[in-house]
Amino acid sequence: MKSLSELIPLLSEPKKIVITHHYNADADALGSTLGLMHFLKKLGHTATVVSPNDNPKFLSWLPGYDTISDYETSPDVVQSKLDEAEILFCLDFNIFHRTKHLADSLRNFKGIKVLIDHHLQPDTESFDFGCSLPEKSSTAEMVYDYIELNNKIEDIDKEIASCLYIGAVADTGGFRYASTAPSTLEMAATLMKTGISISSIQERTFNTRSEGDLRLLGYILKDNMQLFPEHHAALITVPQEIYKKYNIQSGGTEGLVNYPLSIGNIIFSTFIVERDQEVKMSLRSQGSLDVSNIARTYFNGGGHKNASGGRSEESLAETIETFKNVLEKHSKEIKTCYNELQQSPY
Ligand code: 5GP
Ligand code: MN
Repeated sequence: MKSLSELIPLLSEPKKIVITHHYNADADALGSTLGLMHFLKKLGHTATVVSPNDNPKFLSWLPGYDTISDYETSPDVVQSKLDEAEILFCLDFNIFHRTKHLADSLRNFKGIKVLIDHHLQPDTESFDFGCSLPEKSSTAEMVYDYIELNNKIEDIDKEIASCLYIGAVADTGGFRYASTAPSTLEMAATLMKTGISISSIQERTFNTRSEGDLRLLGYILKDNMQLFPEHHAALITVPQEIYKKYNIQSGGTEGLVNYPLSIGNIIFSTFIVERDQEVKMSLRSQGSLDVSNIARTYFNGGGHKNASGGRSEESLAETIETFKNVLEKHSKEIKTCYNELQQSPY
């Protein structure tokens, strides 16, 4: 995989470009892809975003959201956009299977493939150009860096800024997680100077839950959260019938996994949901505890050190048993991380 600076000369003439992201997009996936799309269009290229599946409605305010085609709803439209394109940008994922049904079409793409991503263990063999930096706060920040590499920071307008801003906000938990670097806050300041309203972005993105979503949150925290204080761990499970009973929509359980971490002695939180014959999970940790290793080893997944995901081919009950065994196995490691955190400096 060659560097992104080597890609820049190839983009000196207008090109047809498709940009995509992982399945079940989050704010960083959509913010980074749409932000890059607006930037590339400004440079004179034809650029469009395609998604593996339907996108969450809480991000529908993002400029360009309505131009996105998704593969599950319109496979032919997405395929013809890919067939016409000369360059494919893959953002916020680093291995094709993270796009599920879209994976084969991406693998078989005939043009130039570019990677911009911050997850661990990239499949760099599959890309011609790219940048993979797991220490970066967000893919949105990496798109910002790419704009800087082009010497085009002054081209950033409100459209680009709002997309990149929300990507970084979401992936850093509002600039609170350890991945927040001075460069992240410097970027945020530059983006703000374009005149975007960070309070209305916050309001339109995060304060759009339905009453049902909040009632579900109450129910789950009260009745479906198990604590394992001896392992500094928590587990939230959402069986299929609860998913149906509360009519949970796509994105409706987003962020639930973080709540147990606000308990004093909990540094490892796991969320397991049973949905459409699939058992899907999210893992979060604090400090040096690497949950991507746990996701990879036991749950066919991966991700970041403190935020990972995976899935299980077992039933929900069996997956819960596996999870408990994993806790036993990693007990010492979790305790060490917990003790480290207690002594960490401010
Ligand atoms: P979430 O819990 O928000 O779904 O995912 C958190 C992070 O875990 C994502 O940013 C992604 O890096 C990773 N992740 C989630 N699901 C999977 C999966 O099925 N496979 C892999 N390799 N990573 C995942
Ligand atoms: Mn991301």
